Amino acid sequence: MDQILVTRSSMPDIEEYTNEIKDLWDSHWITNMGVKHKQLQKELETRLNVEHVALYCNGHLALENILEALQLKKGGEIITSPFTFASTTHAIIRSGFEPVFCDIDPVTYTIDTDKIEALITDKTVAILPVHVYGNICNVEKIDEIAKKHNLKVIYDAAHAFAVSYKGTNVANFGDASMFSFHATKVFNTIEGGAVCYHEDSLEQRLKDLKNFGIHGPEEVAYVGGNAKMNEFCAAMGICNLRHLDEEITKRSKVVARYRELLSGTDGLKLCPVQENVTTNYAYFPVVFDKAVFGADRDEVFQKLEENGICARKYFYPITNAFDCYKGRFDPNDTPVALDISLRVLTLPLYADLALEDVDRICEIILNLAKK
Ligand SMILES: *Cc1c(COP(=O)(O)O)cnc(C)c1O
Repeated sequence: MDQILVTRSSMPDIEEYTNEIKDLWDSHWITNMGVKHKQLQKELETRLNVEHVALYCNGHLALENILEALQLKKGGEIITSPFTFASTTHAIIRSGFEPVFCDIDPVTYTIDTDKIEALITDKTVAILPVHVYGNICNVEKIDEIAKKHNLKVIYDAAHAFAVSYKGTNVANFGDASMFSFHATKVFNTIEGGAVCYHEDSLEQRLKDLKNFGIHGPEEVAYVGGNAKMNEFCAAMGICNLRHLDEEITKRSKVVARYRELLSGTDGLKLCPVQENVTTNYAYFPVVFDKAVFGADRDEVFQKLEENGICARKYFYPITNAFDCYKGRFDPNDTPVALDISLRVLTLPLYADLALEDVDRICEIILNLAKK
């Protein structure tokens, strides 16, 4: 039987892509903010209905660059969630800030807004929440806290491309949002990312940070790095954006089938559908309670693997439990995140996953349940 991977990259027809990159052979302009880069940037500004989009070679450097561009006090504390991909915490530390971990809400797995204020000190400079799995954070409450304490808000929105709340695209919340266009994400540019932001003055600084601070052939005005999105990646984005709505619709059918087959099973918890949210069906997490269900997360993972099905322990371990942070942080400070990380499994999900495969995956899982 064929292997089923946890995800599979969305790709346009090869003709569509080769057609899109033909111009590049005429111009020989294949990077440095060429026509494809500019076109994708415009299309995203329109689609996300946001003032500014800056494109990057990946989401991680987009996050590091916006953290630097905001000119926050170095060494300052940033309140964030440990229930995320390595990138979020690494970006904070690599940019010279101190992460302060806030626990997560047990229902949406996003930052628990009731626990943020107790963590604010005179060193706090920002809040960096993560929209998780396509669930969005309590953006209204976060906005209220940030205003009250004069803090910046930067969202890790890597999972939330095309998600909207009460009709507003998530790219508009906070001071800035980072998106990842990595191959495994709902929308990909092979590798890529973006920062969406409101403040006009950030435009020049972000340009400087991603292109060596070069202002002209003889003028280097800023100590920047290199994080530009190249033309081949931008062309992939232009093609994939044309099919995004279709892809999300197909994902929604896969998710509907999972929900139909798995909901109501004792000891197996699914994410509830969030009110007022148009989601992107990015991931399908399931949380197991062994005492009730009959098997734990690792047993389910193992059984699926034996059947050629690759699920993912995502997010496990949580970032404050990483080896590289041993002795510096304690995962027991965020008990809900720790508990969920030990019990969660994200199931295979991509646009072209056959519903018969979903049936088979669910059958294997349900066979492990207590009879
Ligand atoms: C994918 C991801 C990132 C990093 O994005 P890259 O484009 O791979 O650099 C950051 N945060 C989260 C939550 C992610 O899932």
